[in-house]
Amino acid sequence: MTKRTDLPALLAEIHRDAQPLFGQGRVADYIPALAEVEPRRFGLAIATVDGQTHSVGDAHTPFSLQSITKLFTFVLALKLEGDAVWQRVGREPSGAAFNSIVQLETENGIPRNPFINAGALVITDILTTRYAHLDYALLGALRRLADEPNLHWNPRVERSERETAHRNMAMAYFMKSHGNFRNEPETVLDNYCRQCATEMSCAQLAQATLFLANDGRDLGRLGEPDEQFLSADATRRVNALLLTCGAYDAAGDFAYRIGLPVKTGVGGGIVAIVPGVATIAVWSPELDAKGNSVLGAFALERLVQGTGWGHTSI
Ligand code: GLU
Repeated sequence: MTKRTDLPALLAEIHRDAQPLFGQGRVADYIPALAEVEPRRFGLAIATVDGQTHSVGDAHTPFSLQSITKLFTFVLALKLEGDAVWQRVGREPSGAAFNSIVQLETENGIPRNPFINAGALVITDILTTRYAHLDYALLGALRRLADEPNLHWNPRVERSERETAHRNMAMAYFMKSHGNFRNEPETVLDNYCRQCATEMSCAQLAQATLFLANDGRDLGRLGEPDEQFLSADATRRVNALLLTCGAYDAAGDFAYRIGLPVKTGVGGGIVAIVPGVATIAVWSPELDAKGNSVLGAFALERLVQGTGWGHTSI
């Protein structure tokens, strides 16, 4: 259901109305290289399942995907392992910070969900067992989904994150002590930091996630045919997890304000899925106290209000 079809005008309006919000949040600085990004950037891109694209602002500037990559690694793990992933990770909202360690102790080394750091580390552990070169395998999958052969990870961000990954390393060792980690934490952390440092623009990210709005079907690009990238049933389940767990400990607030499956990242990106209709990717580096993009959340809220998207899909 679309209340308003003039998307270009709506995007221009959102871009204008978002400007006064600059300065309300803070760029993530716990990874030194991330702190170097210019704070006052804002881009938004939409890709629709019938092949339209719309964008505004810095929608073609690559940014650090960070936790948004957890969505892609989870999808790969689900494709490979099916329901067996649930022996290693839960599917409940955590209600705790993205890098919280405390629940691991009370829950015997089983992270609450695949989108908080501990859960994502387990997923990367699963994929590290499956792929001799996970970094290139992941990049290959992302290049195909985004229809962009030149995607890469940023080696400076990767190094900076790896050098400061003490907390993630602690979680990996803790989970290993509970038997919930198969590979050496160092090896998994190498893969994890490389994964987090992957860069995409909003336009590329909207394309790369379009299969989630399209019952799992990826439209053939890069000269390849259409592919059922993920089953329709698994796609529905991924979207349910994104709705309940995709925004750290603000997942409830996001569901209330926006009402769509989303994944956020500390690079300031957010991707939202409108099942059957479109994907929306937004980027603005200044974050609120829970690590979510201030302008990004504002823009998504305005967009669903203006279009009516999501009103019939949940
Ligand atoms: N690379 C980040 C970390 O593990 C990902 C955090 C995020 O975007 O939530 O700390």
